[in-house]
Order: sequence, then C-alpha cells, then structure tokens
Amino acid sequence: MKTIYFVVPCYNEEAVLPETAKQLCAQIDGLVRDGLASSESRVMFVDDGSRDRTWELIASLSEKETYVCGLKLSRNCGHQNALLAGLMTAKDLCDAIISLDADLQDDVEVIPEFIQKFSEGCDIVYGVRKSRATDTTFKRGTAHGFYRVMQLMGVELVSDHADYRLMSRRAIESLSQFREVNLFLRGMMPVIGFKTANVFYERHERFAGESKYPLKKMIAFAVDGITSFSTVPLRIISGIGFVVFFISIIVLIYALVAKLTGNALSGWATTIGSIWLIGGIQLLCTGICGEYIGKVYKEVKARPRYFIDTAIIK
Ligand code: UDP
Ligand code: MG
Repeated sequence: MKTIYFVVPCYNEEAVLPETAKQLCAQIDGLVRDGLASSESRVMFVDDGSRDRTWELIASLSEKETYVCGLKLSRNCGHQNALLAGLMTAKDLCDAIISLDADLQDDVEVIPEFIQKFSEGCDIVYGVRKSRATDTTFKRGTAHGFYRVMQLMGVELVSDHADYRLMSRRAIESLSQFREVNLFLRGMMPVIGFKTANVFYERHERFAGESKYPLKKMIAFAVDGITSFSTVPLRIISGIGFVVFFISIIVLIYALVAKLTGNALSGWATTIGSIWLIGGIQLLCTGICGEYIGKVYKEVKARPRYFIDTAIIK
C-alpha cells in the first residue's frame, strides 16, 4: 500500500488550520478505509515563519491527531520555498506527495482521483481548475494574461494549474536535483517529464483569512516565472536594438541629405521626441538585462533556500 503525504505551506493561517486539518485527516481516513493509502500517510503543515499562532496550532494538532505532522521554518521564506522544504523533508518518508494550499481553495474531494492516476503509473498529476467563477474578474483577467504571456515567452506551463499536484517520489527526487534559488515550481515540473495526467476541479472561495498574494507579490511572481524560464525578453531587446539601429541609419542619411541641400531647418519636436523615445527604450532594456543579471547573481551565490527550525515527524 502506498504512503501519501500532504504538504501544506502555511503563512498566518490560524483561521483556517483547524478546518484544513480536519478535512485532510478525514481524507486520509477515507483513503485508508478504501485501501488507497497506508495508515503511515500524513498531513505535513509547513509553517513559513507565521507571525500568528499557526505553529502553536500545528504543534497541538500534531499531538491530538495521528495523521498530522509539522515543519517550522526559521523565518518567512515565501510560498515556493516553504513548499520545497516540505517536499524535500517528506520525500524520504512516502511514495507520493500531494501539495496544496492551506486555505481549502483546492477541492479535496478529487484526491482519490489523484491517487487513481498515480496508481495508473503517472509520476506527476496536475490539479487543473475547471472555471474561475469564484475569482474576482481582476484576478481572472490577470491570471489569463499571465498564462498567455508565459506561452508567448515559450515557457511550458499547465494552464490554470497552481500548486495543487501529486508528485511521485521519483519526480521529487528529480526535482531535488534542480539547484536553482529562484523557484517557480509549476514551471519546473513540466521540465522533469515522466508520465503526467490532469485532474479537473472547482476552485472554492478561500475558507477563511485573506490572500497572502497581493497584486505586488503576484507581479513579482509572474516576472520571476518569466525570467527564470525564458530568455525571450533578451532576444526582444536585441530585436529592438536592431530595428532602432536600422532606423537611425535612415535618419542619418535623411539628415545628411537635408544638410547638403541646404534644407536643414531643425525640428525641435523630432529632436525632443527621439531623445525621450530612445532614452526610454534604453532604460527599459537595461532594466530587463538587469533582471537577468540579478538572477544570475542570486544563483551564483546559491544560498540555502530555507532553514528548518523544528520538525515534528512521526
Ligand atoms: N504562503 C506561504 N508563505 C507566504 C505566502 C503564502 O506559505 O509567504 C501560503 C499560504 O499560507 C497558502 C498558500 O501559500 O497556503 C497560498 O497563498 P494564498 O492562498 O494566500 O494565495 P492565493 O490563493 O490568494 O493566490
Ligand atoms: Mg489561496
């Protein structure tokens, strides 16, 4: 029988944790009863340096519930790093891991389907949202824009899949060989390969508490995703450079001809216009190159991605 771990990153989630623990434990109970998972299966809550009572709750839940265990990170490391910490800790204890958010937005009722696909030999099973009816129009619009841009940049992504997925032990072993510091897990999984499948589910409203992904973090995450997986922006810059160079030759010839024929009535508007335009393009391009240099800087330093403070494993 397969041992399944649920890895749940939590940041200031005291409002939802008891309910999440209850529902996930009930799921494990059901799986054990139906012979789909062993009783060694666990829910691993990863406390990502919460400032509320999240860790106290995890600790007390782990005393009461056989299925609950926990991991406390030394500080807030961000969702992706917290998830990675959970995956790397749990991988040696189980056959497969299902990662999901603490807020119960991902429908836990489809978990047996994940395990079904896993037993059919899939190493990665993606949870894909059927519709985004519960999202605000804004979140839906920005999300679709994001997937569209990623596609244009040549990044392989599963549309409408966040971090609700099952990974086999060997898929996680493969993931552990990725040394990158800039984590974008949903982009890394398709790179791993193996047999995959999709499971469709309805995304619920957040059960309680508020989103930890405000617009600023969302944009940062999207930029991170693009620059971690695609060098197309750099190529676009080369393209712009080429076009501007070509135009400047034409302008130069025009200016020379005007000068030589004595028609050099200087145009103030065109001068000012081109200064601002070229200046703007240059700054933008330097900025994009800077993004990549910043990434290279972080990767070269190769700092550890998280530190574990306390682990409750049983
Ligand atoms: N989260 C985390 N560290 C952070 C921010 C978020 O571990 O710094 C967790 C959070 O507790 C939740 C998951 O990441 O379990 C997704 O966050 P959220 O539900 O707020 O994002 P949204 O669904 O609104 O995109
Ligand atoms: Mg959420």
